[in-house]
Amino acid sequence: MKPVLLGCIADDFTGATDLANNLVRAGMRVVQTIGVPDGPLDSEVDAVVVALKSRTVAPSDAVAQSLSALAWLQAQGAQQIYFKYCSTFDSTAQGNIGPVTEALMDALQTDFSIATPAFPDNGRTVFKGHLFVGEVLLNESGMQNHPLTPMTDPNLVRVMQAQTRRKVGLIDHKAVAQGEAAIRARIDALRAQGVGVAVVDAVSNDDLLRLGPALKGMPLVTAGSGVAIGLPANFGLAPSPQASALPPATGLQAVVSGSCSLATNRQVAHFIAAGRPAFAVNPLQLAAGDDVASEALAWAAPLLAGGPVLVYSTAEPGAVKSVQAQLGAEAAGAMVERCIATIARGLVELGVRQLIVAGGETSGACVQALDITQMQIGPQIDPGVPWCHAVTASGGIHLTLKSGNFGTDDFFSKAFTVLA
Ligand code: ADP
Repeated sequence: MKPVLLGCIADDFTGATDLANNLVRAGMRVVQTIGVPDGPLDSEVDAVVVALKSRTVAPSDAVAQSLSALAWLQAQGAQQIYFKYCSTFDSTAQGNIGPVTEALMDALQTDFSIATPAFPDNGRTVFKGHLFVGEVLLNESGMQNHPLTPMTDPNLVRVMQAQTRRKVGLIDHKAVAQGEAAIRARIDALRAQGVGVAVVDAVSNDDLLRLGPALKGMPLVTAGSGVAIGLPANFGLAPSPQASALPPATGLQAVVSGSCSLATNRQVAHFIAAGRPAFAVNPLQLAAGDDVASEALAWAAPLLAGGPVLVYSTAEPGAVKSVQAQLGAEAAGAMVERCIATIARGLVELGVRQLIVAGGETSGACVQALDITQMQIGPQIDPGVPWCHAVTASGGIHLTLKSGNFGTDDFFSKAFTVLA
């Protein structure tokens, strides 16, 4: 087996797909694994993204998971390691970006790495070490109120310094704008000052493409998914249709949706308005003990031959609040996730081989119910959302995992067209 070029460790599931998607678009063949695999990789690819759930767990747990992923990636021959976190630098004063970065640096015996969540395509830019989300600073973007990782300081040098014992510095835009040689000179100067981690300014894709060559040979890169666009060229790879090639699509088509985000509500409405068949999962019926999954599958079975069907629990904010008030938010969420996942597995058993799943947590539940451990990343449908191919007990299937607010209103029909 050809050794892996780039080994990536992502701190959450949909973030892993986002990174994989960027690497594919820049010319790499990529597999995403769900957790650290038990055995060796069974396909020939340029990069592997190991998806962890380490963003908000205790720092010691995040470190342990990340080191286990590192050991597995090293066993696959990975030449460079990429630690991927959120483009809003989601973390607390305790971590986990700092502690995981330090642990990976120690394990790789390297004294220097970079850190930048810049992802201009998604409006995340870094200037003078400050992170902007669209037009506003991070701490005015809504992220200051995040329930788990409130981001109240936009100065990433300060944020990173609070999480790490190593000295944190800045590769400012002046150096980045001048290109590889100036960036390398700045890295040397920072190293001489004892800096171990440097935040990097980047306000455009051109900045990221200039940064890429300066990262060649760096044992560890830490970043959002944006930096990925500049790395495949270091390994002699350029964008190509081969990078996103998947086996030909076969079988029946279905959509399951447990996302209640605004975009998903629009997508469900669009699908129904187009006259396609749709089955609504009612959480109160679930709570009353009805076998809603069996009902949904019995409803879907005769319709599937006629084109894609939709099974959804997607609801407007008012309806969700009312359900949560009656059942408890966590209990309602878990119950609906279990039901949608059972329906997804049932649909695949009925012959569905092209499956759209809407919702981040919902995707996690469905992938688990389908016993999927690896996905080959294919062509992009909308920014951040590619088609993937995975092997299940019922055979190979194409699936796409769409987190909440991604995708255009016609996503549920457009996706099947992209695959065809
Ligand atoms: P998103 O990516 O849009 O955030 P997720 O799947 O991550 O979607 O989260 C949606 C959560 O809401 C899941 O836990 C899901 O089970 C739950 N949920 C879905 N439909 C309903 C509903 N009608 N009422 C209450 N909770 C729901």
